[in-house]
Amino acid sequence: MSTVFVINSGSSSIKYQLINPALEGKDAVVASGMVDQIGLQQGKYSIKHDGEKIEHQAEIPDHAVGLQLVIDLFNEVGLNLDEQDVVAVGHRVVQGGNLFREPVKIDDTVIEQIASLSPLAPLHNPAHVLGMKVARDLLPDIPHVAVFDTAFFADLPDASRIYPIPQDIAEKYAVRRYGAHGTSHQYVSQQVPRLLDRDPATLRQIIFHLGNGASASAIRGGKPIDTSMGLTPLEGLVMGTRCGDIDASVVFHLMRQGGYTVDEMDTMFNRESGVKAMIGSSDMRDLDDLMAAHDPVGQRCWDVYVHRVKRYLGAYMAELGGLDVIVFTAGIGEKSPEMRFSCLEGLEELGIEVDEKANNHRMSTPTIISTPTSKVTVMVVPTNEELAISRHALQFAK
Ligand code: ADP
Repeated sequence: MSTVFVINSGSSSIKYQLINPALEGKDAVVASGMVDQIGLQQGKYSIKHDGEKIEHQAEIPDHAVGLQLVIDLFNEVGLNLDEQDVVAVGHRVVQGGNLFREPVKIDDTVIEQIASLSPLAPLHNPAHVLGMKVARDLLPDIPHVAVFDTAFFADLPDASRIYPIPQDIAEKYAVRRYGAHGTSHQYVSQQVPRLLDRDPATLRQIIFHLGNGASASAIRGGKPIDTSMGLTPLEGLVMGTRCGDIDASVVFHLMRQGGYTVDEMDTMFNRESGVKAMIGSSDMRDLDDLMAAHDPVGQRCWDVYVHRVKRYLGAYMAELGGLDVIVFTAGIGEKSPEMRFSCLEGLEELGIEVDEKANNHRMSTPTIISTPTSKVTVMVVPTNEELAISRHALQFAK
């Protein structure tokens, strides 16, 4: 059994999974866990294996110590990494810019290039580079592979890629729509033709990845022609803590009239907006509770969220010139039948009919939730970004 170690390194955390890429879903995960609060007085690190979770606390001064603690955790649960036939390490990278159109084996040059894209992802890319350096030191004999959130969208058509601002400035500062969540949109959209036994070349799909971050994509013949995230993951749908699409003048207005700084605006729109700004929590389950209690504030938040999803659905149907499949995925897309239903309610004239009974479950396996007469097939297809990353990384194993 070959396994792949998948790492998502953030500025103060490292999430990891040891995965058997030959298996599906939860079965593929040999172990998973995270290191949290790196650099703070008291850090935490954990592992889940065989239904058991171990968590410890310690001061974790840096990523190197954090990852060593993870290796120690593997030994503690009796999983000697030397015996797990780890054939590659897959690193999630948020921003691949114009430099990376597909997964790539990491060497010193690649690390420099990923670091050079930091102005486009200041919170993420520097943290990924830290994780890569540390992981290469600890596991030097196997290939390390960078898998980019943007790669699937690297060839977006100009019409959806370009921001209509002065093009010399856009060029100089690499301002374009890069998209994000690409690993998930690719993984899910590639499963659909197989699941439906349809020719991928003719299939028009709209994918809604509704998690804490949320994005939509329009896929024709297996290739994305549009996606809702832009220069950064801020654009598009309403999210847990991001506002999504907004008139850029709101920024100018608040900076001029409210005296907010650039960094404060960045934090406001990325971390304090979206669902959190409207109900005080970014967790959809809290919104579900408000809805169950007929709370008007909750209803307003729900309506704003649904309105944005519907706006993208309509736009993408027009861009695709029709539609064959709608897919819901990620936390909310998989687990909230109410949200799925609201997003597609009243669209029968567009050929979209949801089967309420089929929809009325949390889904952990691919499921069709449209009626047999619905012109557009509506599905839930659970995503698994770590499994997708492990399969990309496996391609580079010796
Ligand atoms: P991330 O974007 O962090 O990877 P996920 O795809 O795991 O997130 O989705 C997290 C979101 O899913 C959260 O907003 C959470 O509230 C929501 N969620 C999880 N379980 C449920 C549920 N049973 N019903 C509704 N929403 C849920």
